[in-house]
Amino acid sequence: MNYQNILEEIQEEIKPFLEEGALADYIPALENVNGNDFAMSIITLNGEEFHIGCSDKNFSIQSISKVFTFTLALQNYGRKLYERVGHEPSGDPFNSLVQLEYENGIPRNPFINAGAIVTTDRLISIYKDNTFHEVLKFIKNASNYNTIGYDEEIFKSELSHGFMNLALINMMKSFKNIDNETNRVIETYFKQCSILMTTKQLAHAMLFLANHGVNPLTNEVLVSESKAKRINSVMLTCGHYDASGDFAYRVGLPGKSGVGGGIVAIVPKKMAICVYSPKLNKQGNSLVGTKALELFTTKTGLSIF
Ligand code: GLU
Repeated sequence: MNYQNILEEIQEEIKPFLEEGALADYIPALENVNGNDFAMSIITLNGEEFHIGCSDKNFSIQSISKVFTFTLALQNYGRKLYERVGHEPSGDPFNSLVQLEYENGIPRNPFINAGAIVTTDRLISIYKDNTFHEVLKFIKNASNYNTIGYDEEIFKSELSHGFMNLALINMMKSFKNIDNETNRVIETYFKQCSILMTTKQLAHAMLFLANHGVNPLTNEVLVSESKAKRINSVMLTCGHYDASGDFAYRVGLPGKSGVGGGIVAIVPKKMAICVYSPKLNKQGNSLVGTKALELFTTKTGLSIF
């Protein structure tokens, strides 16, 4: 299959959709991007790379960071993690408070904000002040790119506007589902969201999930085969908030989006994909990114279904 040709076709076919959607505005610093940017990267298990658009441009990975923190927490806690966070789809928006109260402060899954905040709390209980450093170290190692860092302006912007996240963490603290000091947890969570990466780096960083937990380019085991299966399952059922069903229906791959406009997707045993386009649909997922991935699986037949 000529993946480069397919990427070129996709770039042409998504053009009319670049006008649609809107930038995330609840984090002001996220609006400082070019709304018409588009990039897509594919890395196969044997290391072949295909890119289109601005695949070397950094963007804020936002909730894609939840895949890395879930992986690290699962590595450390195994099944015990599920005493604090579930693995069921929520059917609610990414920052919803409603369900959390009904369910006694136990978030539905690690890919909604409340769930990722709990995951960060679990990591802080192990890594203490080194938590952010350990998350970054994991990402650098998984992607094999050493220069990855975070954006201080986006971090500060989220810190001063993240009111819903503050409400979520305080509610969970009152249900005793947060062990550490709330400011420390929320700051670490926001820093993780502010990490900057390119589609090329993110596709590299996700390769282990397409290969039973082993980075195929270095042969390093990042997570066990069984845990890699679980992470992919949660990505498929929960990776796009209340649009997870729609993403599975249209794209048919495990995936995770972020409000920065990135989406990663896994083609098991074949490749990892990352697409970037910053304007979002109503559920907070990249509008063009979702369309591009839908075109990809339609053209290649590479959905898991
Ligand atoms: N930092 C964002 C928040 O917590 C992440 C949301 C997202 O990427 O979907 O609101």
